[in-house]
Amino acid sequence: MLKLDILVLSVHPDDAELGCGGTILKHIAKGKTVGIVDLTRGELGTRGSAEIRDKEAAEAGRILGLAVRENLAIPDGFFENTREYQLKVIAAIRKYQPEIIITNAYHDRHPDHGRANKLVEESSFLSGLRKIETTDSGKIQEAWRPKQVLHFIQDNYIKPDILVDVTDYWNTKVESIMAYGSQFYNPEWDDEPQTYISSPEFIRVVEARAREFGKSINVKFAEGFTSRKILGVDSLFDLK
Ligand SMILES: [Zn+2]
Repeated sequence: MLKLDILVLSVHPDDAELGCGGTILKHIAKGKTVGIVDLTRGELGTRGSAEIRDKEAAEAGRILGLAVRENLAIPDGFFENTREYQLKVIAAIRKYQPEIIITNAYHDRHPDHGRANKLVEESSFLSGLRKIETTDSGKIQEAWRPKQVLHFIQDNYIKPDILVDVTDYWNTKVESIMAYGSQFYNPEWDDEPQTYISSPEFIRVVEARAREFGKSINVKFAEGFTSRKILGVDSLFDLK
């Protein structure tokens, strides 16, 4: 069994790269094992197709150095926080037994993000209840509850509870985002309809946000996260 230190469970392939690509890279560099389970294949995206997104996600995962990347193929756009999908997410959590789960923002301009956040957060709790039975390859899975569930920040500004310095990993994060050639600014895709995220401005805004967060802790680039739990540290000197 592959046990992960961090599992990112987010709704569209590319959410993880945008929301926490630098944090993923940093923890892998520190020897942690990190994987991404995408909930959907992003098949409703205006540009590209599910097949193209699959290939792009695999390439982005290679750039990040993930131990695993999986897709639950839940329907993009129309999923709800139902028992059927909770059981799928619970099975993924129990399969990888992560200490930390990172998921979508509390709320966002794209309604999938807030709904995915609810689905993953509730499933993370339910996954710890042993009377909820799930199987993996015919074997009954053990109950598992992660220590922390963190939420990255997406398009809407949400005040972060913690910031992670990702300065050394910024360029590689951007490379992983740009692996989604169909989604972000790419002159080769000029014939396709332009979208909110395909203009060159979008990635500049992503960078501006990371610079703004970085400034708060006196580093160049940072990623922000929120938590519904109060967070603690071993030492006050862990604080920046
Ligand atoms: Zn998304």
